Amino acid sequence: MRIFIARFRPPRRAFWVLPVLCLTFFLAVQESRTEPALSPALFGKTVVIDPGHGDWDPGVVGVDGVQEKDVNLAVSKNLCQLLRNSGAVVLCTRENDRLAYDNKQEDMQARAALAKEADLFVSIHANSFPAAPDTCGAQIFYGAGNEEGKKLAQAIQEQCGLLLHSRRTALAHPDAYLLKHTAAPAVIAEMGFLSNPQEAQALAGGDYQRQAAWALYVGIVNYFSESGG
Ligand SMILES: [Zn+2]
Repeated sequence: MRIFIARFRPPRRAFWVLPVLCLTFFLAVQESRTEPALSPALFGKTVVIDPGHGDWDPGVVGVDGVQEKDVNLAVSKNLCQLLRNSGAVVLCTRENDRLAYDNKQEDMQARAALAKEADLFVSIHANSFPAAPDTCGAQIFYGAGNEEGKKLAQAIQEQCGLLLHSRRTALAHPDAYLLKHTAAPAVIAEMGFLSNPQEAQALAGGDYQRQAAWALYVGIVNYFSESGG
């Protein structure tokens, strides 16, 4: 025993153990954020994601020329990936910048037809209020009278507060075609204001787009978990 103690030298490598463990933990957390494990709450659920606008319809255009349709598609792609990784069946009203129809009415009817397949429907948009450029924050809308839609909107809005620092509250939308024509829990998610210079810059960037998708994803998981199935 005495010989062992006399010969013992702390290995230099030991100095690296703690930082390496910390880095491994950090990477594991990052990995689990972007690649969630199968979620019992989502497994087998059909979720329809609707990136608003597209193609000939840019939606609102931000102060730097950022087009809403591109923001909507980027956030939607991130969200679809998260949902698919969790075992949900994900249907998307568009996967790229092309639309099947060249007029608004047929385009909206096609989106509504797909929404009828859904256990849950999320239409993703960005907002604009040029008269007050300071206006900011993600806001979730549900159809008036759709109680499950209201719960879903509140679950997502809570995450928008925590993860995107939005101070807005979920509201009933007075007149939204897709909300009126979808029986499943349905929301329109306005992920920020393109008329606000700072928020427009954030909305155009990958970090905010990933964080917005994460807020939507966590809200959806929480909604399904709390609704019992
Ligand atoms: Zn829009």
